[in-house]
Amino acid sequence: MLIRITALCSLMAVAAALLLVGAGPSLTAGAQPATPPPLEAIHVSGDVYTLQTPTAGGNLGALIGPDGVLLVDAQFSAESQPILDALSGLTDESIRFLINTHIHPDHIGANAELADHGVLIFAHDLVREQMLDRIRIPRRGGVFFDQPPPEARPVVTYDKEITFHVNGEAVRSFLVPPSHTGGDSFVYFPSADVLHTGDVFRTNMYPIVDVRNGGTFSGMVEAIELAIDLAGSETKVIPGHGFGFTDQAGLEEVLGMMTDIRDRVQTLISNGASLDEVLAARPTAHLDERWGGVPSWTAVDLLPIVYEEYSD
Ligand SMILES: [Zn+2]
Repeated sequence: MLIRITALCSLMAVAAALLLVGAGPSLTAGAQPATPPPLEAIHVSGDVYTLQTPTAGGNLGALIGPDGVLLVDAQFSAESQPILDALSGLTDESIRFLINTHIHPDHIGANAELADHGVLIFAHDLVREQMLDRIRIPRRGGVFFDQPPPEARPVVTYDKEITFHVNGEAVRSFLVPPSHTGGDSFVYFPSADVLHTGDVFRTNMYPIVDVRNGGTFSGMVEAIELAIDLAGSETKVIPGHGFGFTDQAGLEEVLGMMTDIRDRVQTLISNGASLDEVLAARPTAHLDERWGGVPSWTAVDLLPIVYEEYSD
C-alpha cells in the first residue's frame, strides 16, 4: 500500500517538494530524489527539539523523555526513516504520539508509516474530515494530492483542545482562529516554554492563506496576536516554515508585515480601487525583498486574498 502510493506520487513528489519548500536548486521536475531529505535535530529548549530539512519546509517538533516521544507534524516524505534517524541521536524511546497541526501534505507525509509503528495520531476534527478527500494546496494557483490512505488519519480528534501529560509536561494542542486553514492547532509546551505554530506562522516568506481549506487573513492576524499574548520574553517559537526557531520578536515582525499589508490594501479599497489597481499599486513593494523570495507564493498570490476578504 505504502509502496504503491509512493510510486503514484513520484512525479507529484518532486513538484510538491519544489512547491512546498520553495524550489531547491538541485531538484528538477521529473526526477525523483533517491532518498527523502535528512532531518536535522535542533535543540530548542528543555526536552523539546525541532527536526528540519535544510530547505526549511514543514518543521517538526519533538518532546523527548522517559514516557516516549511526542511528535508535532510528520514531514512531506511518506518514509518515516528520516524522522527515526533524527531522533536516534536524542533518545532510545519510541514515538508514541503525533499531533498534526493541519492538513497539508508537508505535515502529514509519514502519518501512515508512523501509525504502522504504533504511533497514535491526534488532530483537530477538521483535519480528519479533510483527509477523507484528495488534498488541495494553494501554491501556484492550486495543486492536488491523492487522498491520504486510511492509516494516515488521526485516531483521536478534538474540537477545541487536548492536553498530553507526558515527560513531565502538560502539552496543550488547541485550535486557533481560521487562519492558514480552518483546522490549525498551536502546540504549547509550558515547562520548556516552546510554542509550535504550524503554518499559521512562518519566518521565511509571505503568509499562505488557504481559503479553500477554511483559512482567512484576518484570522491569521488574530492567531499571531494570540501567540504574542501567550509568549513571554523567554518563549521559543517553532515556525511551520523557516529555518531554526524564533521568539516573541519574530512573531511581532510577521504581525507588523501582515497589518502593514492589510492597512495598505484597506486604504486602496476605501479609495475605490479594483483588484487590478491594487496589484498595480504594488502595496508590498517595500516588503518583497524580505518576504517575497519564494516563487510559488508571492505578493501576487496573497494580495487577491486580502483584497477579497476586506472588500466585503
Ligand atoms: Zn501548510
